Amino acid sequence: MIRKKNKEISDKSYSIEELRKNAIDDKLFIKEIGTRKHFYKSELPYNKLLLGMRLALIAERNNGLTPYINENYVCLTCGATSGESHPESSYCFKCDTDNWSLSENANVL
Ligand SMILES: [Zn+2]
Repeated sequence: MIRKKNKEISDKSYSIEELRKNAIDDKLFIKEIGTRKHFYKSELPYNKLLLGMRLALIAERNNGLTPYINENYVCLTCGATSGESHPESSYCFKCDTDNWSLSENANVL
């Protein structure tokens, strides 16, 4: 039986434990995103759950920190348009990835 790659991804079976592991571990999460530039637009249930869990875990991790804000950038991983970044790593404050893109409304010279 030939399995199409997309079919395989959409049918991906997973446990909550596996999902949590992939959401909390930075390297595993990046690996799950792969080269997708607009991960937040994915309609696959697994990807939606993974992103939702990631956002909740990062909110816990960043609790009490004040983000740096640069409204000229949007996050292509989680879709955040607030430009909030981690004050030290400058990664996205919401999903903790480095997947910034200049906003269409960017105010730069
Ligand atoms: Zn993000």
